[in-house]
Amino acid sequence: MPYVMTTCPFCGCGCGLYLEVQGQKVVGVAPSVAHPVSQGRLCVKGWHAHELATSPRRFRTPLVRRDGRLQEASWEEALDLVASRLNEIGAAGGPSVVGVLGSARGTNEENYLLAKLARCCLGTNNVDFTDRLEALPGVFDLPQYRHLTTPSLALSDLDTADLILIWQSDPSQEHPAVASRVMRAVERGTPVVEVAIRCGQLRSLAQHRLAPRPGTDVYLVYGLLRAALEGRRPDTPAAEALAASVSDWAPERTEAVTGVSADLVSKVAEMISRAHQPVITCTRATTVQQHAAELLNSLSALSCLSNGGAQPRPVILWLSHYSNLQGARDMGAVPYFVTGCQSVVREETRGKFSRSWGIDLPVEPGLAAWDMLGQVRGMLVMGDDPVGRLPDAGRARTALEGMEFLAVIDIFPTATTEVAHVVLPGASFAEKDGTFTSADRRVQRVRQAASSLGAARPEWRILCELSRRLGHAMSYDSPSEIMDEIAALTPPYASVSFAALDVGWGLRLPAADQVALPELNGADEETQSIVHKTLPAVGVEFPLVMTADCCLRAWVDDPMVGGTVTLRRELGADRAAALPIIEISSADANESQLRDGQRVRVRSRTGEMEAVAHVTDDVSPGAVVLPFAMRELAAEVMPPALHPDSGVPILPPCAVSVHKV
Ligand code: SF4
Repeated sequence: MPYVMTTCPFCGCGCGLYLEVQGQKVVGVAPSVAHPVSQGRLCVKGWHAHELATSPRRFRTPLVRRDGRLQEASWEEALDLVASRLNEIGAAGGPSVVGVLGSARGTNEENYLLAKLARCCLGTNNVDFTDRLEALPGVFDLPQYRHLTTPSLALSDLDTADLILIWQSDPSQEHPAVASRVMRAVERGTPVVEVAIRCGQLRSLAQHRLAPRPGTDVYLVYGLLRAALEGRRPDTPAAEALAASVSDWAPERTEAVTGVSADLVSKVAEMISRAHQPVITCTRATTVQQHAAELLNSLSALSCLSNGGAQPRPVILWLSHYSNLQGARDMGAVPYFVTGCQSVVREETRGKFSRSWGIDLPVEPGLAAWDMLGQVRGMLVMGDDPVGRLPDAGRARTALEGMEFLAVIDIFPTATTEVAHVVLPGASFAEKDGTFTSADRRVQRVRQAASSLGAARPEWRILCELSRRLGHAMSYDSPSEIMDEIAALTPPYASVSFAALDVGWGLRLPAADQVALPELNGADEETQSIVHKTLPAVGVEFPLVMTADCCLRAWVDDPMVGGTVTLRRELGADRAAALPIIEISSADANESQLRDGQRVRVRSRTGEMEAVAHVTDDVSPGAVVLPFAMRELAAEVMPPALHPDSGVPILPPCAVSVHKV
């Protein structure tokens, strides 16, 4: 029975696995023993990845909306309709009223072609993907912050770390390959510290758990920095500025603001101070916070304390939720970059891409995904689901429903395909060639093991067909040829080719091994007061703080999980909740005489809702945790807002009360 080596399509860890093939069908999965990430292991998602290819939920034919219903159509009819409608809308309203969304689940080659199609065929830089929100766009795409979301650390750095800080994330839920590395590190004696409002499954391994009040993480880091710098003589002007910026954050003040005891702040600061190679793991739970820019900036400042303080080095291992979030950014599915973060407004970039693509690159940066919703009238979505992914699900749904034309390429039904005018069936990861770029910048092969299901087609072929109809034909014989073009245009990918990737376990892209010491805004009274004003105002009427947790029930609402029978069962995705579930600490539950499983009323200053209470000691007293997947059910109590710096949608924590119904 043939086995085809490929890359897991779920999370950003990038485990290597073999697909077991019988005839034209994939029937099973086996982990690669020698692969540097999987090392002979897979998590439950990886073990059932083959079910994506054979799922009965897959789209098998193109669908066109007629009489209000999506009905089967031929490829010719569906492609002609997509091209003609996008052309008409663009011709009537100009390139700014059409746009495309790519995908952190799609391959590099698909994202590159989609971005090229938008720029060459539709004449617009309205190119984005909603999971880019994880990387806090608009802030971290600025040159001074880019190192924070262009990861330099590798998963293997966990093997040599002398301190691991797990910051508001639960690797056992979101990134199991990281969790198993943390467990092995603990066996070797590496201390682990968990910073979490809701502790994860690794809590029993952590030497210390710090539970800052929701919204106060950044102050906790100031306090840790202040305590760790105590008694050190700053050896550079930057280190001196850093010490000055956190000088107000004595452990006692840190305790008063964050709720973390001064003693614990001092203990953990001492551990940080002694560490030479600390690693801090962060996920989207950190980057979608209201003060994520300053938080990640201050976490990055911990690098000045490592390596003996001689040379700041990266300390943040930033883990993306999906398999190819890094790759989708690298491929230019971004409104202001083409590939490799090359700015669309730079003359040199414009010249290079215009020569290669045979068009004048659109001059104006495009709209971000959340701005396109509501402003764009015609859209092509490839593997993205704005309703399922954006904090403001209700607004995304209304915007998509109001579009003149919406075409979606996907393999499974989503909230977005529900309102599409045309659905084009794409190929699963097992049915196409391509590459993913993992969270730690390892470019790896995705290999075709089976033919496409029904009339489904690989996305790169669909995009080539569409480009011909849109008047600027993109023709390629294979994804390998597309990667050669990417490599020629993208300095970090210059040495990437399918032939090079087929030797060994892919290629790690070059990354900085040093960082500049960031400047903190901690000494800035104005910033502090702005941050302070945005903290939830708790009091007698609303004594608790509710926050949305991306790790809790992290994959249950995912279309890929929904498409696999075993994962639906294992992860509880079939148990659709009529009411939101909230987690509350035993201490707060006792205070309000609540029992586990009881129906409760949650009230905030903006609204109220009924929910089911899950009483647990995993949650810190004073906090109420809502799974991000259930945010739409709680929109009146915890309304989405816009990030103060970047304007991207976020879910700020809010003060609430919880009572028995
Ligand atoms: S840890 Fe991530 S990449 Fe590895 S098998 Fe699980 S989902 Fe796939």
